[in-house]
Amino acid sequence: MLTAKKVLLAGMLELSAAYKLSPMNSLHRLFHQLPLGFGHNNVDVSRFRCDLGKPLDPSNDGLYSSHELFSPKEAVETLIQRHQPLVRMDSVCYDDLGDFDKDERWRPFDDIPKVLEDKYPLIYEKGWFETINRFGLVYTVEGSDPSLKPILLTAHQDVVPVESETLDSWEHPPFEAYYNESTGYLYGRGASDDKSAITALMSAMEALLSQEDYNPRRTVIFAFGFDEECSGLRGASSISKHLEERYGENGIAVILDEGGAGLQSVGDVLYALPAVYEKGYLDVWFNIDVVGGHSSTPTPHTSIGMMSEIVVALESNPFQPKIIRDGPIHEALICFTRYSPYALPELTYYVNLGLLDQAAHLLAQVQRETQYFIQTSQAVDWIAGGQKINSLPEFTTLGVNHGYAPQDSIGSIQHRIVKLVQGVASKYNLTVRAFEGDKDYEDYLRSMGHGPTAKDDRMHTAWEPIYNGTLTLEARKRSYITSQTQTRGSVWDVFAGTVRHTFADQAKIVVPAPGAMTGNTDTRHYLNLSQNIYRWSPGSLKSFSNIHGVNEKLLISEHVNMVRFYYDFIRNFDQADI
Ligand SMILES: [Zn+2]
Repeated sequence: MLTAKKVLLAGMLELSAAYKLSPMNSLHRLFHQLPLGFGHNNVDVSRFRCDLGKPLDPSNDGLYSSHELFSPKEAVETLIQRHQPLVRMDSVCYDDLGDFDKDERWRPFDDIPKVLEDKYPLIYEKGWFETINRFGLVYTVEGSDPSLKPILLTAHQDVVPVESETLDSWEHPPFEAYYNESTGYLYGRGASDDKSAITALMSAMEALLSQEDYNPRRTVIFAFGFDEECSGLRGASSISKHLEERYGENGIAVILDEGGAGLQSVGDVLYALPAVYEKGYLDVWFNIDVVGGHSSTPTPHTSIGMMSEIVVALESNPFQPKIIRDGPIHEALICFTRYSPYALPELTYYVNLGLLDQAAHLLAQVQRETQYFIQTSQAVDWIAGGQKINSLPEFTTLGVNHGYAPQDSIGSIQHRIVKLVQGVASKYNLTVRAFEGDKDYEDYLRSMGHGPTAKDDRMHTAWEPIYNGTLTLEARKRSYITSQTQTRGSVWDVFAGTVRHTFADQAKIVVPAPGAMTGNTDTRHYLNLSQNIYRWSPGSLKSFSNIHGVNEKLLISEHVNMVRFYYDFIRNFDQADI
């Protein structure tokens, strides 16, 4: 699920283009308002300056450098041969998949380990291979020092379905894994998301194991889930329990998972933006039931009309954007405005002065992708009501989906909804049954000093239609916002130093900065295993094209960099004292 996984600053270039089109913003005017030392010295009192650490060269271990080992031409050839058979497996995750043995659609997952064993013989020979809950794949290369916490690198084997109506639009069939020599792209569902990570990780490890000098101190684990696109409930969830039993809670030094195109160029600066947290998730369902009746003598309003008023109340009150001071997004903006001060001068101005509300407003105004890093999303996605054209509908149901930002919580969203529907409920004398027995809601009310039930304010109108109605609010699917990985300290330094080393030749300045993710990955199941989780795919939007869409493809020449990064990452963490 990479589509929703935008990293902050994704498309900052488009954002700055949009900015220039806006007549409200005069670059000229702003230039004269910029504080002294613009772009170099922050005026804000925040301690974080985005000073860059040294690139971390792993060459002390005596192994081949990633650049020697993965020289473009041969590396590209090998990667294509390894990647193609994996992409040919139509390992689709369908939401309604049944039992492993009964549902034929699981069969491609039986074949994936065979493909991997064929392509990566050294890993099978020298490593340790386990299957967890039938299709979950865990590879362990044991280190010599058991006192060092292992590192865990993850990916997923499953892909999203291909809509049959779109088949004609694919330039090459989605499971053919066609490689186009002139463009350098390998086509296929899963070519990018997320089989590119499997091929890159396995290739990096195969290269390490082929060298006699590779004697790891620290254990390296690869875990490949098989239902990430369907929430990871059978795959990553089982793998996580297994690893927690073996290594204990927080028993892993660092976890690296997918995270959308993690490299973004702005001018001659290359930003690497690992997501250090994921937004929370909440679906709220609204049900109105009222007495029905024949449409020839209707009540003035029906449950559909009432629900429509609720929709209006919700949509007239969007959530507000907010940048939390000293939070990861604030830090990312400090980095961006320091190293690209002229890309968005107005943003630089606000960030330098610590005017975060203005900065939030600016970011929310210009581009939706950026807006929802700093704002809770509210989407009315589902409505149903009415059975027959001549009957008053007795039930109407509404579903509203939220991705919540750190300034909000499940309880605060629920409370806000109860307040927003009060007007409609009072107007029609509806009994409100709000989130009954919901712990998040009750805890929130207690923390605010309210009783557990909302006050039932019944109003009486002169002409009193009897609706006998009830509005029920219920939260169904939810996931909490994840804790935030530290963006300072030794683990961050090794991660950031590796990025600066591997990609040093790709830009004048390489800036690792924290990002966030608006969607979830398998790491939602791995939170117990480590406090250091980065969701980051080492590639650009150009490398990973059309993810989840028609003509998904992977730029193999850039995929080489992904292998290089994993190769250096494993070596640097092997040498690190953490
Ligand atoms: Zn994915």
